[in-house]
Amino acid sequence: MEANEKDKLGKEFKSLMGEEEFARIIVDNSNIFINVWTVNGILIKFNKYCQRITGFSEEEVLGTNWKGRIVSNEVCQDIDELFDMYKEGRVPPTIEGEILCKDGKHVKVLWNNSLIFDKNNNPRYGISLGIDITQTKDFEQRLGESYKELEKIYSENKKAEETIYKLAYYDVLTKLPNKTLAMKELDYNINEAKKKNTKVGLLSIDLDNFKDINDTLGHNFGDIILKQVADFIINLIPKDYTVARLGGDEFLIIAPNIKDAFELEQCALRLKAEFEKSFNLNSREVYITFSMGISIFPKDADDRQSLYKIADIAMYHAKRLGKNNYQFYIKELSDNIKYKLDLERDLREAIKREEFAVYYQPQFDIKQGKITGVEALIRWNHPKNGFLAPSEFIPIAEATGLIVPIGEWVLYMACLQHKEWTEKGYKDIRMSVNISARQFEQKNFIENLKEILEDTEMNPCFLEVEITESIALMDVEYTITILNQLQDMGIKVSLDDFGTGYSSLNYLKRLPIDTIKIDKSFLENIAIEKNDTILTKTVIELARNLKLYTIAEGVETVDQYKFLRDNSCDMVQGYLFSKPMPKDEIEKLFFSDFNI
Ligand code: C2E
Ligand code: MG
Ligand code: MG
Repeated sequence: MEANEKDKLGKEFKSLMGEEEFARIIVDNSNIFINVWTVNGILIKFNKYCQRITGFSEEEVLGTNWKGRIVSNEVCQDIDELFDMYKEGRVPPTIEGEILCKDGKHVKVLWNNSLIFDKNNNPRYGISLGIDITQTKDFEQRLGESYKELEKIYSENKKAEETIYKLAYYDVLTKLPNKTLAMKELDYNINEAKKKNTKVGLLSIDLDNFKDINDTLGHNFGDIILKQVADFIINLIPKDYTVARLGGDEFLIIAPNIKDAFELEQCALRLKAEFEKSFNLNSREVYITFSMGISIFPKDADDRQSLYKIADIAMYHAKRLGKNNYQFYIKELSDNIKYKLDLERDLREAIKREEFAVYYQPQFDIKQGKITGVEALIRWNHPKNGFLAPSEFIPIAEATGLIVPIGEWVLYMACLQHKEWTEKGYKDIRMSVNISARQFEQKNFIENLKEILEDTEMNPCFLEVEITESIALMDVEYTITILNQLQDMGIKVSLDDFGTGYSSLNYLKRLPIDTIKIDKSFLENIAIEKNDTILTKTVIELARNLKLYTIAEGVETVDQYKFLRDNSCDMVQGYLFSKPMPKDEIEKLFFSDFNI
């Protein structure tokens, strides 16, 4: 628009109503609060918008009536300060305030103030222009509240997150990292070691006999011990090592950046020495030891899982070596485990594949000068490893429970063999069969035995079961009931490997047995060790007093035989007469003469 055209329109508008009218129209039609005051605080203008919003007429508030009406009494004091500023010729800054309505409502207002001076340049009027900011303020407030709410939720979430994190990565009891975190840490350390070409040590710890502590002193006590052990380990290992509780009584130490195995050995020795000083619990002294297995990255394995697994293998090796010691992993341990696992797998199939055989070893009666019995001994013809002696697989069979079906199979075969020999005319041959702990413990042991005897039609009077001392003493009362049942059936019982176990003479008196088998370890040194000689004599003497037969096993030399004969041992069994043999071979010996 051209300048002169603007000028023209302005003049035209003003001429229509005059300057004063023009100003009044603007004041009355503006949708903003307009208040005009003298600098002494006398209100002289309260525009239409003010009246409409507050409900007060201009008359009701002009002069000093505004006090306590459009402004609460408390705020009046602040307003007085505003007038003081006006009087000094200063313009108060833009400010947020409120205006009160007749119905008690508060309207929030953003006030902008200006000052009008008179001709002599004295401050004369103050003008307050205000806009309604109630909605904005409410919105702001709600926003603030929402923000606070959000903050609260956020912090609660954060707490929950922390709790979840703690539960996921820490052990509740000891506050140590748990297995998940330990494995992450190990991963991290292995990766770092790969980059920096350094070594990481892993120490797997398992407390010895902790179950006994829990069982005898209670779980609460056990928990306190575990906490103490955790604190103990933390204080004894270097700062940059990590210790975690994997569960139960298992702990794991990660040693990053180690120089050599020696460093780990130092740590293990320090722990062992300190543990041996005993733990103090409610002024009760508790002794705790641990078994530890140690593996090293990258020498032993180059990934986390294998490193952990083999530290565990070494730890179990430490347990087997009698506990309270540490063992470094060596490859042979894994080979051995693999061999045993393979053997266990094959053992499960061996009966079906008919890989077992029963060998028999004669038992020679010294007085009668002839074979009066045989001991049935199992052999395993392994498809790959060849002929295996019982010592190589019986322990695995015991551990896995496979000994039960295997033992029953031997018993069945031996009884069947006896029947066959009886039919062939080899009469009066006693058949001794070894019974393992697992078999003996079976609830249906006696029933199975009866069934086998019936099936094979063997005369029970010729059957002898061999149990070891340790089996017999496991639960003496139970043993006595079973042995009585056996005796009632006419079956003989002999105590195998006598002298290698507890040799508790008290119990020996109470057990209904027929024969004592003196272990071959007694005979090995008979000529050399005077003590063994005396011991063997004593055992024979003792057996005689208890009216028990004696049989010495492992007789290999004529000297041993003569010693036993001269000391009134009843029977002998050993390589001197024959090694355990297949049935056909053994038959040939039944009527042979032994000229010793
Ligand atoms: P055991 O019952 O004490 O059997 C005697 C062991 O001594 C047999 O070993 C036998 O071969 C060996 N032996 C006999 N005479 C001599 C000798 O003069 N010198 C030497 N050095 N050894 C001799 P084997 O057959 O290796 O059996 C070892 C063990 O395995 C047995 O000890 C027995 O405890 C167990 N066993 C064998 N067969 C069975 C079975 O069918 N069931 C169960 N549960 N265990 C069995
Ligand atoms: Mg035996
Ligand atoms: Mg024996």
